[in-house]
Amino acid sequence: MEPFTYNASAVRIVFGHGTRTALADEIARLGCSRPLLLSTPQQAAEAERLGAALGQHFAGLFAGAVMHTPVEVSEAAVAHAKAVDADCLVAVGGGSTIGLGKAVALRTDLPQIVVPTTYAGSEATSILGQTADGAKTTLRSPKVLPEVILYDVDLTLTLPPGLTAVSGMNAIAHAVEALYAADRNPVTSMMAEQAVRSLARALPVLTAEPLDTPARAEALYGAWLSGTCLNAVGMGLHHKLCHTLGGTFDLPHAETHTIILPHAVRYNAPAAPDAMARIAQALGAADAAGGLFDLAQRLGAPTALAALGLEESDLDRAAALAVAAPYPNPRPLSEPAIRALLGNAFRGIRPSEDNCHA
Ligand code: NAD
Repeated sequence: MEPFTYNASAVRIVFGHGTRTALADEIARLGCSRPLLLSTPQQAAEAERLGAALGQHFAGLFAGAVMHTPVEVSEAAVAHAKAVDADCLVAVGGGSTIGLGKAVALRTDLPQIVVPTTYAGSEATSILGQTADGAKTTLRSPKVLPEVILYDVDLTLTLPPGLTAVSGMNAIAHAVEALYAADRNPVTSMMAEQAVRSLARALPVLTAEPLDTPARAEALYGAWLSGTCLNAVGMGLHHKLCHTLGGTFDLPHAETHTIILPHAVRYNAPAAPDAMARIAQALGAADAAGGLFDLAQRLGAPTALAALGLEESDLDRAAALAVAAPYPNPRPLSEPAIRALLGNAFRGIRPSEDNCHA
């Protein structure tokens, strides 16, 4: 076996059905008694219910989380935490709410319990993306890594089918890029392969039956594994393209991941044959890139950037930005080939050897 380095993070994971009833115990375990709950306006009622169940140990709710973690919202939440004398944070929701919790933790050092309700995986990472004056920046700090992740499968039952599909594909993207990351190791590769297998098995079931609890559990398990991989190893071309498209052209996060993934995988395929074989096997498909495209299509998820409102004239700039700063990627970055990749993704063409511009 090749020598390897694995940075494991010390996060406590509680996983199961109905685990939200353990929230009070988890707060006490941290030595805390005045949690501030965080949510989006859309999930305020859910967060209220969790808070009410805490009885006197409920300092308040800040239900103002929005996409892209704008600093003014984070500062308002910090002020709220101080006003109610909170001693810990409980984020209930998807990546947007978790991002807010991380932003508050960064500024206050308050411990965090996260109750994820999507498959984005942010709960498992020490990465925080924030926006100030319309510009998105990303930082990595141990301060933003949550202390506890409380996965309650039941809270994911309400995730609408469309969001289930794209959020699940977003999770698969973390695992896929972990399998060909330059700093991968046998542990992350094992987790990543299982993540792809679990999500690829669960998501089609959930498209047909969103309330299928075993499939919800399997998808959430896969999402945790994917988020753990995202934290442990460096991401490549796919994440770079999605970051550029999201940050510069304001495209929606999970949808963009869903559309780009098969094309980024096709681009990297010639340079990462072992990863491709593992991805294809986990998908139960003949070919990794084609299998990912077929999965997205089967889930009824968007497959063309044009459908997200991007203009074809934006593609040159997106390709230039994606190669502007070097980063590890299995296949060297070629601006014309990435521009061609984006053209295929714009039109929603199924990636194949004939159109990968290798
Ligand atoms: P989101 O958090 O924006 O949620 C989308 C909508 O769905 C919100 O209105 C939310 O309230 C609602 N929702 C969430 N769960 C629900 C449920 N179970 N039932 C009903 N409604 C529900 O979406 P997301 O895709 O989870 O997060 C995207 C954000 O997360 C992006 O800003 C992205 O950059 C960030 N992110 C960060 C990391 C990281 O490591 N820092 C990783 C992945 C994603």
